[in-house]
Amino acid sequence: MAILKVARMGHPVLRAKARPLEAGEIRSPAVQQLIDDMFETMAEYQGVGLAAPQIHESVRVFVAGLPARSRDEQDEEDDEDDDDEDDDMPLIAMINPEITPVGREMAEGWEGCLSIPDIRGRVPRARSIVVRGYDRKGKRMEIKASGFSARVIQHETDHLDGVLFFDRMKSFETLTFLDEFGRYWSPRDVREE
Ligand SMILES: [Zn+2]
Repeated sequence: MAILKVARMGHPVLRAKARPLEAGEIRSPAVQQLIDDMFETMAEYQGVGLAAPQIHESVRVFVAGLPARSRDEQDEEDDEDDDDEDDDMPLIAMINPEITPVGREMAEGWEGCLSIPDIRGRVPRARSIVVRGYDRKGKRMEIKASGFSARVIQHETDHLDGVLFFDRMKSFETLTFLDEFGRYWSPRDVREE
């Protein structure tokens, strides 16, 4: 395992469209190593998500989630009334994700990004989604997600298309440095993705 260097905004890899992995490729030692290293890197930087382009690999892979210590039992259904930032999610690795929004409802919430350190901004996202792709064993997987998990999955999948959260903001009025975020917006940290 290794902690990888995170690409910062301005690096062209963050603006490229990443290539899908072929089914036979997923179980290769190189891809398994990549996923292990991405989990380790995400944990090191206390992120809640990390996409392969962020560590200079232009392939359609992301990891996401919070370590189990912050969870008891995973809820069967995400609570729609939950504050967007309050929710949590299990650790997942997802390959070649395809997102379908469920319904038209949008939710605005704070986001940060390991590739845009120490900045926060409010981003509108679909409140509920279904994401389909492959797990790290090459098995098809499908996840229904709402609120915080849905936000993280949309943020990470955007990275695979060269899209950063700034691009999704309706206005830049809420763009905030971390210090000022804590001072003026919320005493709680918002994790980076
Ligand atoms: Zn990000």
